[in-house]
Amino acid sequence: MALMIILRGMSGSVCINHPDQPAVARCVTCSKPVCAKCVVKADGHTFCSGTCRDNRAKFQAGYKPKEDSALAGLMSYVKLLVALAVIAAVVLFVGGKVLGIGACQSILKIFGL
Ligand SMILES: [Zn+2]
Ligand SMILES: [Zn+2]
Repeated sequence: MALMIILRGMSGSVCINHPDQPAVARCVTCSKPVCAKCVVKADGHTFCSGTCRDNRAKFQAGYKPKEDSALAGLMSYVKLLVALAVIAAVVLFVGGKVLGIGACQSILKIFGL
């Protein structure tokens, strides 16, 4: 047992579940060292357990879409503005051409311009 403590103190990298096994990787979520038997690999990362893997997946799932939705929100806002501009231009153009300049001006009033 004393030898184990010495080994652990010297290397600092034995498995958290198996003190007699050298650690081959560290969990990217909690930084705990794990042996080849315990290591959980997913998405090119190493984890000490399925719990840590899920926690990281949850963290990333909660973080990334936030970024994407913010960008998507901005894009949909830009698209909405472009669509409104196109509709306004078409309405003003068609209205002005078909009904004359008077109709065009009344449409401008509707839009509050
Ligand atoms: Zn972990
Ligand atoms: Zn282990």
